[in-house]
Amino acid sequence: MKLSSRSKSYMIPEYSLTGDLLSFLTCNLQYRYQNKGTLPPSMPIQLWFGEFIHGVMEEAYLQWELKKTPFPWDWKKDIRPIENMIDARLQVRGLYPPKEHFFSTNNPNNENIDINERDHKKLASARAQSAINYWGPHLFPLIDSAEVLIKGIRNMPNYDENISRSNYYGINGVIDVLSSLKIDKTINNTNQTTLDNYRNKIIEYLKNNEEFQKNISQIDSDEYEVIIDYKGMRRPSNQRKDDETWIRHKWQILTYAWLRKQQADAKPIVAGIIFYLNELVPSKEDLIVIQQDIHDNLTDIPKEGEFKKDIELIENWDEDSKVPELSSEFKTARSIRIINIDNNEIDNALTEFDAVVNNIESSLIKEIKGCKIQDAWEAKADKRTCDACDFKTFCKNKKNKTKEFTIP
Ligand code: SF4
Repeated sequence: MKLSSRSKSYMIPEYSLTGDLLSFLTCNLQYRYQNKGTLPPSMPIQLWFGEFIHGVMEEAYLQWELKKTPFPWDWKKDIRPIENMIDARLQVRGLYPPKEHFFSTNNPNNENIDINERDHKKLASARAQSAINYWGPHLFPLIDSAEVLIKGIRNMPNYDENISRSNYYGINGVIDVLSSLKIDKTINNTNQTTLDNYRNKIIEYLKNNEEFQKNISQIDSDEYEVIIDYKGMRRPSNQRKDDETWIRHKWQILTYAWLRKQQADAKPIVAGIIFYLNELVPSKEDLIVIQQDIHDNLTDIPKEGEFKKDIELIENWDEDSKVPELSSEFKTARSIRIINIDNNEIDNALTEFDAVVNNIESSLIKEIKGCKIQDAWEAKADKRTCDACDFKTFCKNKKNKTKEFTIP
């Protein structure tokens, strides 16, 4: 009897929107070492904080749903236990907090210390507290579901049966928060929110957004969805030629909208909201970049009108002096970004990500065929990314080498 041979395995490469596509765009070579190599993951401060703040916001929401503790929450009593829990979870995954940004009681040296705000509430804790107390009262009541996994499949760009690994690729992501709103009647007709007698800032921002209003007026449904994403970073520069973070975040939301649309229980998706949570408590480094953006007209926040005083404070601020006290309205405005969902723009975003997948696949295939890693993957990133990169000592990008290694 002739035994049939096992057919060639059929594998569809799977890409995560943030973990692969956005990460590859930050630097191709860094992505290769971090995501496809055997090297331990790099954990610059921004990445640790991103994981931390996502965990804190999700847990805070779950606890709010359970106990309905009124806002503002007390740091030591209500927020610190959540921080401890998330820190412990991250440490199990090998993600340790940077000492200068977070006081960890999960560290054996700090176990029996009586925590107080003055000595132990460091930057990450101050941001967690602000994120919960600024946005929690407005966001939590609007949440329909949190951590929603979305997946889809697309044709492999430039498919060639002799070269390509597959004729399709998978794309996935996790929506931090999905809000289901009954907005049309409430916002358009009565100027009130779904939460009677409650001035909800998020609804107000949406209400004041003309494009959003136009979108909901065209949808024939009572309920709509808004996709919400937290970012543990400052608001990116708008229109900076050497930094496409602003536009890439928009592609991310548009692609989430496309993926979500394919789920059976999806309602029409009208907008996405990104919360840039560092803006609530900007660090000196953040403020230096914000000052530069204001100077170069690379921010979408208007210079005149209600924020004139805050802008003047930032423009006149000297790096050696204390970070100025900015108004909560200014910080709130900088931390929220509304992205309206438009079908043509979804197509553009998908085309952009197809091109990214094509580039990743090309680099992978080059490597499979024997090309050296540093020749198969491009080493190009902005200075801040390179400065925080674990691979800069052996990176081929000569600009990243430190001066100590040059012979006079
Ligand atoms: S040092 Fe810069 S160019 Fe080199 S791998 Fe790291 S981020 Fe990329």
